[in-house]
Amino acid sequence: MSTSASGYIVLLGAPGAGKGTQAERLEKDIELPHIATGDLFRAALKQQTELGKLAQSYMDRGVLVPDDVTIAMVKERFGQADASRGAILDGFPRTVEQAVALDSILAERGAGVTIAPYIKVSTDTLLARLAGRWVCRGCGAVYHMLYSPPAREGVCDSCGGELYQRSDDTPETHLKRIQVYLEETAPLIEFYRDRGLLAEVDGEQDIEGVYADLLRLVRGATQSSS
Ligand code: ADP
Ligand code: AMP
Repeated sequence: MSTSASGYIVLLGAPGAGKGTQAERLEKDIELPHIATGDLFRAALKQQTELGKLAQSYMDRGVLVPDDVTIAMVKERFGQADASRGAILDGFPRTVEQAVALDSILAERGAGVTIAPYIKVSTDTLLARLAGRWVCRGCGAVYHMLYSPPAREGVCDSCGGELYQRSDDTPETHLKRIQVYLEETAPLIEFYRDRGLLAEVDGEQDIEGVYADLLRLVRGATQSSS
């Protein structure tokens, strides 16, 4: 059953925790747009815009795109009509400065963050998940060669698009991204805990197990109507 909801959901978790995988499912069930800053940067790069070219130089190194650039891009995305009732934020905020900016963007529309589910996963699990990740070039659907394989190798189940491995999914970049996460993004766990918004989810479960816990938390926090 899909139900519409309202509210701004901040998905927290290290690279590879499963934020995108869960957001894909959640957006179908609660009918809020999935806004992933990584996807926005990759779309800009595909179109060879200045933003895309700038972002690539950071993404390839596994470091964060500067806050001012990221915040401006998110502000623009929030200006689109589909985000007026709420959104599922995946990969944003990633720094305390971004979290503070998000609060003011939402305050301008009389809103705030509704819940910050934190998908908690060990480093060994993150590395195993990142190593096997394949993504659809067409629709962005996420697969794993062992844990969530497509029916036909290299082909997306949803749209028939070609699957590829992201250029930043290399062993060296994985370690760098996890290190950057621990230094710059992990402080957001306390940021949201202090505000009473954090909700921990055991991310070591299989995809359906994580989703069941996440959906229950999100439904409880957002105003749902059929
Ligand atoms: P993130 O968006 O947090 O970086 P992804 O959603 O892209 O993470 O997931 C990373 C990889 O792990 C993908 O290949 C995905 O299929 C796989 N994955 C996600 N969640 C789980 C899970 N609970 N169990 C096993 N594999 C998972
Ligand atoms: P992701 O798709 O979430 O794994 O993000 C891929 C890359 O995009 C990251 O390693 C960063 O270089 C960049 N990126 C995505 N979101 C942000 C953000 N909120 N702030 C800064 N950089 C980001």
